[in-house]
Amino acid sequence: MEAEIVAIGTELLLGVTVDTNSAYLAQQLGTIGVPVRRVTLVRDDLAEIVTTLQDALGRVDLVICSGGLGPTGDDLTREAIAQATGRPLEFHQTLLDDIAARFAAFKRTMSDSNRQQAYVPQGAHIIRNPRGTAPAFVAEGGAAAEGRLIAALPGVPQELSYLTENALLPYLRDEHGLNEVLVVRELRVSGLTEADAGERIADIMLGENPVVGITAKRGQHTIRIAAKGEGREAAEALIEPLVELIRQRFGAYLLGEETVEQRVARLLAERGVKLALVETDLNAPVYRTLTETSAGKQALVHATIQPALAPENHDYPTLARSLAAEAAALKSDARLVLLIEPGEGSFKTVHLALGTADSPQIRYLARGFDWGLPQASDFVATAALELLRRWLEASGPDAAFEESEQPNRPA
Ligand code: ATP
Ligand code: MG
Repeated sequence: MEAEIVAIGTELLLGVTVDTNSAYLAQQLGTIGVPVRRVTLVRDDLAEIVTTLQDALGRVDLVICSGGLGPTGDDLTREAIAQATGRPLEFHQTLLDDIAARFAAFKRTMSDSNRQQAYVPQGAHIIRNPRGTAPAFVAEGGAAAEGRLIAALPGVPQELSYLTENALLPYLRDEHGLNEVLVVRELRVSGLTEADAGERIADIMLGENPVVGITAKRGQHTIRIAAKGEGREAAEALIEPLVELIRQRFGAYLLGEETVEQRVARLLAERGVKLALVETDLNAPVYRTLTETSAGKQALVHATIQPALAPENHDYPTLARSLAAEAAALKSDARLVLLIEPGEGSFKTVHLALGTADSPQIRYLARGFDWGLPQASDFVATAALELLRRWLEASGPDAAFEESEQPNRPA
């Protein structure tokens, strides 16, 4: 079974309310193995909602609507479902009694317009709502959508989530035999461009179960493996061999479940490393990232943050290396250096160097970053931490880094 979500409400299309319900529903449907194929936002307009629902029912077995179940004139979901399925609305006294009891409990007077909330399409499975006035329901698709289902949930996120977890999903599981689960595993990759990472798993990404995808954030990439199976164990069994295959293809670029910042913080703490830092970026991306964790704070014994260290036209690579070589003199185990070379326009070269007290070798790397991007600092921090990680990992058991010095697109 596949699903579509239709989020109803003019406020969603005005950008006044962000549609969080669809993301939530997509996640929840995953837990019963139902993938979401499309999400549509539609304004409070009866004809448009009806067409949207009919189209969705033409494509998938399950359509879930969010919103538009209130008592006001712009709450049109009930009527739209009635029209889209050809099942007229029917009044249910028990539903009106629920609503009346709720008003009585709040010592408020029920309005006449609340009466419309006691109507549901003929034959629908009713879901009473202990968290609000609008009952939810699951209607059968009409003649044109035999065997298909269309559910309506109130738009208030707390009501929607309560009814989804306590009524809708159990109903779908029990009455419609949806016993599959979708398990999602995320693996992080650092030190490669997104394109390079994508090419290494291009063939794996063609599979249908598990579905494998890749997304980028902060210059790191997340490989997402989503597997569907009869129960969690069956899904995990599909995921495991892929994790192994991905591990082989990425070697030390694969961080598993940790981000590069988490990995570096953990290794710094485990080894008791004393770290010194120089940054010529007043936003101090590396300093800020490191000091986000207590392990990073503890490791940092010496930090210099100042706008510039050399006049223009200076030999930056040499300067970066010589500053990195001062690690031992500063009574630290390693010194990380980040120098920004002034230049025209928003692209600037960042010279990164890492020197360690235990070896004369300096790890050096130059990368260009677009300072016009708000995330530039994140990319710089990731590149610097990646350099640090290579040293930390290389002194561990797993030293299998292929040095990759391809020019880095900062995304
Ligand atoms: P109720 O019957 O409880 O009044 P409803 O079904 O009529 O609910 P709406 O009136 O459309 O729902 O919306 C109620 C509240 O829920 C509003 O605050 C709205 O901003 C919020 N809301 C509606 N749709 C969404 C959505 N897709 N994601 C997040 N919030 C939403
Ligand atoms: Mg609404």
